[in-house]
Amino acid sequence: MQYAHPLPDTLLERYKSWRDNGFSENEPLLRTLADDGQSPQAMVISCCDSRVHVTSLFEAAQGTFFVHRNIANFVPPNTADGDQTGTAAALEYAITVLKVPHLIIVGHSACGGVRGCYDLCSGNAPGLEDSFVGKWVKHLRPAFDRLPEGGETDRVTAMEKEAVLLSLENLMGYGFVAAAVNAGTLQLHALWNDIGAGTVEAFDAERGAFAAL
Ligand SMILES: [Zn+2]
Repeated sequence: MQYAHPLPDTLLERYKSWRDNGFSENEPLLRTLADDGQSPQAMVISCCDSRVHVTSLFEAAQGTFFVHRNIANFVPPNTADGDQTGTAAALEYAITVLKVPHLIIVGHSACGGVRGCYDLCSGNAPGLEDSFVGKWVKHLRPAFDRLPEGGETDRVTAMEKEAVLLSLENLMGYGFVAAAVNAGTLQLHALWNDIGAGTVEAFDAERGAFAAL
């Protein structure tokens, strides 16, 4: 395969450092996980964005989170174009096979995917609709339609949070999710991470709003 290149030196050095230090510190845990399999505490859906680091946020070790990442940390509706099965497959495995007790969706500040949909819905992103990104983020439109009036910066931030809630709604359209939630074996959680401030907000259902943890 002529397309496969050696890793850049910077990554190779970091791997060697992890192998010599990080791995040896965690070797007993990793051996147990390798022998006994995984039993994660939660499934986490977060954005592909390199600045969102859910394992660091929660000081999670290997085996703690079953993580799925996609553009804009979005769960598409069960009725979305039939070929969007990547997220659904991850959900199905985590809930029906691993039986995770918690499902956490982590939105974040300055999300390019949410911004793309905002621009798309505002008519400011000609051509985006024909791209793979556009075909994916267009499913966030219901979050745009719920935004209050206001300045653009506030509306985009509000949409990042509204999109997380839309994902929770969409989750309940998957029979195996609804069944687990209704049986009390699965709890859903909606979070939003302000990258620059290092803070996390959680949606409080009683107050109907996100609040800082
Ligand atoms: Zn993002």
